[in-house]
Amino acid sequence: MDEFSVIKKYFASAAQNAGEEIILGIGDDCALISAEPGYCVAVSTDTFAEGTHFFKGLDPRAVGHKALAAALSDLPAMGAEPLCFTLALTLPEADESFLAGFSAGLFKLARQEGIPLVGGDTTGGPLSVTVTVLGKVRKGEEIRRDGARAGDVICVSGPLGGAAYGVSLRYGAETAADAAAAELAYGLLDFPRPRTDLTGCLRRYGVSAAIDVSDGFLGDLGHILESSAKSAEIALGRLPVSAALGGLPEDKRLDYALNGGDDYELCFTLAEEDLARWQSDASAGKTPAVYPVGRVTDGTGSRVAFIRDGAIVVPEFLRKSFNHFA
Ligand code: ADP
Ligand code: MG
Repeated sequence: MDEFSVIKKYFASAAQNAGEEIILGIGDDCALISAEPGYCVAVSTDTFAEGTHFFKGLDPRAVGHKALAAALSDLPAMGAEPLCFTLALTLPEADESFLAGFSAGLFKLARQEGIPLVGGDTTGGPLSVTVTVLGKVRKGEEIRRDGARAGDVICVSGPLGGAAYGVSLRYGAETAADAAAAELAYGLLDFPRPRTDLTGCLRRYGVSAAIDVSDGFLGDLGHILESSAKSAEIALGRLPVSAALGGLPEDKRLDYALNGGDDYELCFTLAEEDLARWQSDASAGKTPAVYPVGRVTDGTGSRVAFIRDGAIVVPEFLRKSFNHFA
């Protein structure tokens, strides 16, 4: 099966019809997207290489889903709405069972999210998937990393650590307490949910800085602190920890939640009164939940102080790397 047949059978035919901004999708030299006046186009690319970013032999549907989910997750973190995406696919061979599963996983999420595939490239080589997402955000309404203010509350959008636990289970570095915990962890690792449902909330509640948690909460929070020239306090007892970690000792659960990657929840900062509005709308069932975990503090060093029962603590598992954080 040659490159053009692969494109036609697995990608061009399943690609959705163009939305109003998509003037031209797959098939010509370029896709054409109309640039709406008053908006910026937000662009982000992510590459998934077999053996580096996902295990060889992973369910092809998960490869398709996760490649798009990880790229999409950058759009809400910027306050942008999805427009379209492109796909650069490098394949060792035209393996039709891989292609069928991969495109099914990819397009299932694309349809759910209402984001059409508008182009790409297909070449031979070691298996690797690169997705570029395009989004739109009104000029001046984008949410950057550098906007955190001292006194802002630091929040996350959902439980952390489950995906990293899934990696440990797959490596055999951990043994699951029970089958349900393993299933949950693998689901979080292989089929992460990009938090595009929160884009409106981030803007409505005046979020001052945001990032998606792809490399681990502490590392990603560190990017906000560094860009904003601030420091932080994190209340360890407030971190929402994935239910998949339920069977583990406290320090291990915290280690996964603070340092584990691949969760694709959002971390963001906002003023206390804006958080109060969000929380009251959330308890009325109007918006998804939000989890306050700490506070932005003055001090340019990107330091993170950990608080437990009102006192600063240095958890044992963080002692080695503590210099980076305090
Ligand atoms: P070119 O020679 O201009 O690079 P290609 O032959 O690579 O064009 O691709 C032909 C058309 O198919 C283009 O519109 C391109 O965007 C699209 N395309 C190629 N590979 C993919 C893919 N993996 N997914 C979606 N569209 C693709
Ligand atoms: Mg090409």
